[in-house]
Amino acid sequence: MKEFWSKRAKALTPYIPGEQPRERKFIKLNTNENPYPPSQMALAAIREAVGESLRLYPDPECTSLRETLAATFGLKPNQVFVGNGSDEVLAMSFQAFFDPERTILFPDITYSFYPVFADLCGLNYREVPLDECFGLPVEEFLGNNGGVVIANPNAPTGRALSLCHIRTLLEGNPDAVVIVDETYVDFGAQSAVPLIDSYPNLLVVQTMSKSRALAGLRVGFALGNADLINALNSVKNSFNSYTLDRLALAGAEGALRDGAYLRAIAMKISSTRDCTADRLKRMGFEVSDSAGNFLFISHPEVPAKTLLDGLRERGILVRWWDKPRISNYLRITVGTDEEMEALCQALSQLVAKE
Ligand SMILES: *Cc1c(COP(=O)(O)O)cnc(C)c1O
Repeated sequence: MKEFWSKRAKALTPYIPGEQPRERKFIKLNTNENPYPPSQMALAAIREAVGESLRLYPDPECTSLRETLAATFGLKPNQVFVGNGSDEVLAMSFQAFFDPERTILFPDITYSFYPVFADLCGLNYREVPLDECFGLPVEEFLGNNGGVVIANPNAPTGRALSLCHIRTLLEGNPDAVVIVDETYVDFGAQSAVPLIDSYPNLLVVQTMSKSRALAGLRVGFALGNADLINALNSVKNSFNSYTLDRLALAGAEGALRDGAYLRAIAMKISSTRDCTADRLKRMGFEVSDSAGNFLFISHPEVPAKTLLDGLRERGILVRWWDKPRISNYLRITVGTDEEMEALCQALSQLVAKE
């Protein structure tokens, strides 16, 4: 088969997203969704946008949303780009900033969409090994690279980098764009946004999907020097002028106006994460230090795949990768306290000795 496929389509190895179950009701801890509802202000704004104006195309420049984002982050609107989820923003960034002649770098253990984007764009990349504790060896990323992509906090490990290390990466790659994917930054890492005015090669990418509980709305954004943003606009307008629909534009603005709610749910999730991590350690698990809304765990005796299957039988979905170095780990999204109670009970049965 693949009779009519282009060579390019034949060569693709697509990203496999976490399962979204349709029939049975699971406790869903596999795709890092927020267990709490979106802000009421976001929902009200979406309801208000439902109406006859849907007849009309949305604003292709997303002016109002970009102004609100700029105000939220202390930037100018021309330092803001928005897209249909941060995955789209990242895909466009790979096209806008990287060339096949120069190798781009990212860690060997990180968001598995990065190699997929690189392949789609025909880029050369090198996966730099993290150390045994999943720390990022900053010195390995310095030099004449074609670009650097890092997630901070990293996924699926949860490990965060300090701003001082981000500065070193930026100064060590003066001729290349450094993309910092801050999808999980609101759960406990330091944002690089304050560095934007000092480093023209820094692009920060964030999303409404995780900390703002709007994965279903598909809104992501990039913050950086106006020249980088122009490059992204060039790519976007060569592909799809209307990446955000009217409801997404309205909902995202509503969510941004409710900073208090974001802080409240992010803080709640971080505290649930830390309590759950302590409890799992007492049960004998190794738990890496996480600054995200998920935990990356392994057990010295029971293989991760056994735990994955056992949890599924008990109605709990978590994420596992059959990949070198991490095949004995599970990534578990931090849910509500009740969901974490169910998780810990199921895991304690699974690791109990006969
Ligand atoms: C979830 C995730 C994304 C994608 O987020 P969307 O905005 O929903 O597309 C990007 N990067 C990382 C590291 C993620 O975990």
